[in-house]
Amino acid sequence: MTAALVLGGGPAGAAAALCLARAGLPVTLVEREAAPREKVCGEFLGANAARRLRTLGIDLSALGAVPIGGARLAVGARMAAIGLPFAAWGLPRAKLDEALLTAARDAGACILRGHAARRAERVVGGWRVHLSDSVVLTAPVLVLATGKHELRGQPRAWRGHHVGLKLPLRLSGPLAEVLLLPLRGGYAGLQPSADGRANLCLALRAADGRVGEPYNLLAKVAAGSDLAAALLADAVPLWKRPLAVGGLPYGFLHRDVGRADPALFRVGDQFAVIPSLAGEGMDMALASGIAAAAAISAAVPAPDFHADLARAWRRPMRWAGLAAGLLHRAPNGFVWAAGLLPGSARSMVARMRLQA
Ligand SMILES: Cc1cc2nc3c(=O)[nH]c(=O)nc-3n(C[C@H](O)[C@H](O)[C@H](O)COP(=O)(O)OP(=O)(O)OC[C@H]3O[C@@H](n4cnc5c(N)ncnc54)[C@H](O)[C@@H]3O)c2cc1C
Repeated sequence: MTAALVLGGGPAGAAAALCLARAGLPVTLVEREAAPREKVCGEFLGANAARRLRTLGIDLSALGAVPIGGARLAVGARMAAIGLPFAAWGLPRAKLDEALLTAARDAGACILRGHAARRAERVVGGWRVHLSDSVVLTAPVLVLATGKHELRGQPRAWRGHHVGLKLPLRLSGPLAEVLLLPLRGGYAGLQPSADGRANLCLALRAADGRVGEPYNLLAKVAAGSDLAAALLADAVPLWKRPLAVGGLPYGFLHRDVGRADPALFRVGDQFAVIPSLAGEGMDMALASGIAAAAAISAAVPAPDFHADLARAWRRPMRWAGLAAGLLHRAPNGFVWAAGLLPGSARSMVARMRLQA
């Protein structure tokens, strides 16, 4: 029998399954996608994420990740360059998630792909999970790693009003930095990615996110700043339509209420959703997956694990919320201040991260 059942094969679930398998525990991971798939994500990986990936046996360079040399903010004619306080990389999610799942499988985890968990229910001695194809699995411990949205039987009192969009591009000129481009209702991020492409990713209020076909999306981003207009003038979208995800629950932080279940571990976006401009969600996912495996191996109850995680995550969540709020309310002032005080901007970037 499996000792732990992990639902979701993103960075959080894959890291948990990999570490549980390395600890010698029989573990099963269920991922609804049968094959590698892109996800709405800026694909920014900071030094902490790279270090954690290394401990999991993932070599970013070998996967084709590209280094990111700095950050630039632009709105209208205003621009600010800030050096990043750490090294960073860009890598398509389909490659990263696949590498993590392969590493988990190689470590001995049983990976079930193409099966969606429909419902999870508490039973005596553990959890029973119903999958899409009438398969039922049981395990003493459940790791919930299904990302941003709730699973039936495990409600979350939080639904956001932002949409995320992603569109890979071929640019006519080189791009070596991550660009943060405030827009009405949110922001766009543009950064280099593998295979000579650039990744354009947006988080917008739902009302501003209905942009339809790729060239409308490019026009919207280009209208926000001179820098974006110049960079995107000859850009070629590589997909017919942007990938979209709705109801982003930015700022959600799980709290155990009442008699919290000792055998239900929430990791990654199931535990908390940091505003995406921080570029820290993947590191939090990896860190929580690794920590959950350690807690399960040491028989630490889930509420104690959640309390430790909340303590570590409050600071980056608060700083990312503050940055997102300022960028949204006063984009010009934000970029102006970042240009005037690049040291403070760098320090804000550092505060949005987990402690190493
Ligand atoms: C617009 C935007 C930009 C972002 N940019 C960045 C960035 O640049 N850098 C960064 O670090 N983070 C970024 N993030 C955040 C990052 O993408 C997430 O924090 C991270 O993916 C969370 O990992 P996870 O494993 O918790 O969830 P996910 O990566 O969402 O993985 C969840 C997995 O569960 C599977 N699943 C879902 N439901 C079921 C089910 N019922 N049964 C079985 N499987 C299921 C899904 O198919 C998926 O593979 C961004 C997010 C958004 C929205």
